[in-house]
Amino acid sequence: MKCCIVGGGLTGLVAALSLSTDHEVVLMERRPVLGGCLSSIDRGDYTIEAFYHHCFQGDRHLLVLLDRLGLRGELEWLTGTTGYHVEGRSFPLSTPTEILSYPHMSLLDKARLGWLMLRAGRIDRSGLDDVTAKSFIQDNLGTSVYTSFFEPLLRSKFGPMQDRVSAAWLLSRIAIRSNRSPGGERLGYLRHGFASLVDRLRRAAEAEGCSVLTGTPVGAIRRDGAGWTVRDERFDAVVSTVPPQLLASMTGLPLGEVPYQGAACMTLAIDRDVTGGIYWLNMKDRAPYGAVVAHTNLVPVERYGEHLVYLASYFAGDLPEGHGDRMLSDFCQRFGVAKEEVRWHHLEVDPFAGPVYETGYHRRIPGYAHDGLYMAGMFSAPNYPERSMEGSIVAGEEVTAAVRGASHG
Ligand SMILES: Cc1cc2nc3c(=O)[nH]c(=O)nc-3n(C[C@H](O)[C@H](O)[C@H](O)COP(=O)(O)OP(=O)(O)OC[C@H]3O[C@@H](n4cnc5c(N)ncnc54)[C@H](O)[C@@H]3O)c2cc1C
Repeated sequence: MKCCIVGGGLTGLVAALSLSTDHEVVLMERRPVLGGCLSSIDRGDYTIEAFYHHCFQGDRHLLVLLDRLGLRGELEWLTGTTGYHVEGRSFPLSTPTEILSYPHMSLLDKARLGWLMLRAGRIDRSGLDDVTAKSFIQDNLGTSVYTSFFEPLLRSKFGPMQDRVSAAWLLSRIAIRSNRSPGGERLGYLRHGFASLVDRLRRAAEAEGCSVLTGTPVGAIRRDGAGWTVRDERFDAVVSTVPPQLLASMTGLPLGEVPYQGAACMTLAIDRDVTGGIYWLNMKDRAPYGAVVAHTNLVPVERYGEHLVYLASYFAGDLPEGHGDRMLSDFCQRFGVAKEEVRWHHLEVDPFAGPVYETGYHRRIPGYAHDGLYMAGMFSAPNYPERSMEGSIVAGEEVTAAVRGASHG
């Protein structure tokens, strides 16, 4: 069978590697580089992801893939600390002592929060897909827990869409992330960055005979008998990894829509630490970014020779004009950094950076096969309640199984 894969992110690369073992495969990627959300900036001496990335100890499929690609030895487990930036100060919030001494939350609210963390996995979520996270928290834990803890977190993750997110999503998310050890969370990172994963995947797929084409945007996908025509080439099957609404406009098929948000992330290099050693700093103070992610407070700074910091923001619709400049100016002013101290900076913008898990989302998760087409990606079931490298690897494997099932059936 001859298969076309649309999109060279993690889902597309995993599907390409798997399908190439027994099918003729062509992967088409719109951009000049592979990796999608996991693509990297090449700084000559090192590469750094254009969007902050780490993995988790429970990422079973990712670990198996790293083994298969000969990269398991490159994986390091590091300690990721978190904190809040409130009223101009950064507060670490990783150890029980730090949490207890945090002054912007009452002891009663901390106890209520602790109760939710312990119980989240056991709360029945079936009726909560239509309830907003905001009303669930306000009704069950009180308004102050919402404003002092959850509101900044939801803002940092969903920007202007924060009020639309469902309680089912929030509880699922807490349930999978509340097993962190005191002192910080064990987070995984590849010694030479996740660029090596993208590169090895490409090489492994090519070694199986896959043709990987970058700078090759797919426009229309037309039905052609029992198959499809893509860029004047005929295929028996098409696996799309782009958002369903983009695939719908390429094919003219009614494929439904998954609510997405865009991400604008600035990476910058400076010569000192500005977050007091904290890796992930959520902004409780209003800023044009929701979190400051100090990469070199996770991975040793010596590896880069400079401190690397991400400013993370999400947006709905179009990115407001001048957003990148506002992020940089605000960061410099708020964290006491002179503009000349910033050695370099890079703004990465992706209008389809992740689904918004709004009320009713769970019912809208699309399946893999649609009217003779296949689709998988950040919107697929393995990427709920959180899109991740692990989820996209599983989605790539599951869509491959669906293609194989149909070709044998
Ligand atoms: C800011 C941010 C931080 C993240 N942090 C983490 C993290 O710490 N840990 C973790 O596990 N996961 C993280 N993720 C999630 C992870 O990066 C994604 O789940 C995964 O990389 C998505 O892969 P994908 O292939 O499904 O989608 P994408 O990466 O979006 O790939 C889709 C590809 O399709 C291409 N494409 C689009 N249109 C066309 C077209 N017309 N023709 C051809 N190609 C096209 C795109 O260019 C893209 O390369 C993060 C994501 C973001 C955005």
